[in-house]
Amino acid sequence: MPYKQAAEHRQELPSRSVPRRRPQFIPAGRIHAINADTREVACGINAAGLYVFDRDWTAGIGLNRCSACVEATGYGRPPDA
Ligand SMILES: [Zn+2]
Repeated sequence: MPYKQAAEHRQELPSRSVPRRRPQFIPAGRIHAINADTREVACGINAAGLYVFDRDWTAGIGLNRCSACVEATGYGRPPDA
């Protein structure tokens, strides 16, 4: 199931000395798992208002992942649990 990251907020990366063509954003706030095909959020909340990023749900560490989405997708569950 291809889950992408859907963030409640987004944060613009501060521009450095090199000018960018367009601003780049990174996920901020709580991150939910959204089904890339059906646009359904794993924990059942409305996808409207979420910022969907073209990043795999499992990519990245230290993100504030929604615990209900983690539970629903089984991501991060200890292997011996
Ligand atoms: Zn969620």
